[in-house]
Amino acid sequence: MHTRLLLTLIAALPAAAPDTRPAPWAWIRVNNVGYLPQDPKIAVLSSRTPLSGRFEVGDFSADVGPDCGPWGPFEHNYRLDFTAQQTPGTYRVVCGEIVSPPFSIGPDAWREVPGRLLDFMRLQRCGDNPVVGRPFHRQDGIDTVTGRRVDLVGGWHDAADRLKHMITTTWCVAVLFLAGADDEARHGAALVRKIHPDPDTIYVQIGDDRDHLPPATLWHDDQSDYGWGKGGPRAAWPATGRPEGPKYRNASSGVASLAGRAAAAMALAGDLPTARSLYELALRRPGCAMSVPVRAPHYYGESTWHDDVEWAAVELFIATGRQRDLQDAVRFALEAGDNPWMGLDRHGHYEFFPYVNLAHWRLYPHADPQTRDRLAHFYRAGLERVVRRAEQNPYRLGTPLVWCSTNNVIALATQAVLYERMTGDRRFRTVAAEARDWIFGRNPWGVSMVIGVPAGGPCASKPHHMFHRLAGILPVGGLVDGPVSKDINDSLKFDDFGDDPLAEFQSQVAVYHDCYADFSTNEPIIDGTVSLLFLLHVWPSAGSF
Ligand SMILES: [Zn+2]
Repeated sequence: MHTRLLLTLIAALPAAAPDTRPAPWAWIRVNNVGYLPQDPKIAVLSSRTPLSGRFEVGDFSADVGPDCGPWGPFEHNYRLDFTAQQTPGTYRVVCGEIVSPPFSIGPDAWREVPGRLLDFMRLQRCGDNPVVGRPFHRQDGIDTVTGRRVDLVGGWHDAADRLKHMITTTWCVAVLFLAGADDEARHGAALVRKIHPDPDTIYVQIGDDRDHLPPATLWHDDQSDYGWGKGGPRAAWPATGRPEGPKYRNASSGVASLAGRAAAAMALAGDLPTARSLYELALRRPGCAMSVPVRAPHYYGESTWHDDVEWAAVELFIATGRQRDLQDAVRFALEAGDNPWMGLDRHGHYEFFPYVNLAHWRLYPHADPQTRDRLAHFYRAGLERVVRRAEQNPYRLGTPLVWCSTNNVIALATQAVLYERMTGDRRFRTVAAEARDWIFGRNPWGVSMVIGVPAGGPCASKPHHMFHRLAGILPVGGLVDGPVSKDINDSLKFDDFGDDPLAEFQSQVAVYHDCYADFSTNEPIIDGTVSLLFLLHVWPSAGSF
């Protein structure tokens, strides 16, 4: 604690104080992974002192341009646009003695990344795990209402803990199919099929935060006791449509959010009877299913559901051609409207999950011209609100710095890319590229938020994850939660961070700690990892972009 306080004081020293250190006093932040040749490419030069002159990227050279003013930990910021450098190769941005990390430009600049993201999902597998090489969690689970045994073996552990959230699992399955990652999608789809054993039942969660009791262990050594013995069966929580929790209660109002998204996932998996049954359950039980808090008051408070039933309806239409499903999809699309978190400074934990409404994009090619205009308008309106916020800082961050902020950043980029795909309107191409670059390291810390990516480059490398802590296995490819505003971080209780090598880049605006102890900024999450896979999948690879 004392160490952390001291570091905070050092970071808070006014930048006007004489800087007696020879270097570094300035940093060039880039996308540490790389750029496609036609991508917009804007590095950020951040400095304690005013700078002027020219910068170089290979044979490209330009003036550093105007000072964009202070933001976060930096007094002076300059946006270095080298979009014109399109020749494939490995480069650094150089400005006098200030040099960026190396990065690639080329049509295959990200070729390794999707494989790493899927490596992380395999590490997270529950039931049978190819990394661990042995079965575990084979007794999932016991229904918390009926006390009956139900087969809910499989799926993925949500994050660093060992429990399974169907709120995120349903998203992962559907999006993995849309990203062409069928093998991993099918692994999750097998569990999503089982969470709906009869027409009126859907499970929202397997295990709960009793899992967070020490000692922390690897998946296969889990000794959590849910009341049926250490390492025994785990609690299977049905979504009841009412507020749930023995001590703290969530604000559940129905099951349509979960059932709708599960229906979309099952339609994409080709299981149309299960998809249809889930969709009908969603229509009978409008409202939102939330995760269940047991020991602590935190839960996934998803509060929107029209987007999920829209998605169910459009995937059923695509699979069956049934006109009634298309009409329903259009009706729910108009109810869902534009993206409600875009333009906000704060929102609740997973309040607006999923962070991008893929149903609008899926529906667009099948809709009448008037509906198409509405769908495009919904995407554009949200993007414009984020852009207005982003233009106020040199890093062009316009998304909220709440828990799992990387989810918001990726959703912004995804919505921008899909908007261009739908309409041909290129106005948000730079928005998409700068959001992607934030994830890959063009942020105040200079750190890629994907664990171990790029290999050997600046990236998250001490994540809040048991496999690294206990077994020395780095969960490469996991996307971490990412930065949060300092007041959010300060409100949480952590074990000692130890020395923070990023201390000078922390500020009131945002903090990010590449250390095991910080579960708010450095814990990998399955939903965000899959969302990034999808973004890279839909990113225009050549030509117009
Ligand atoms: Zn498990």
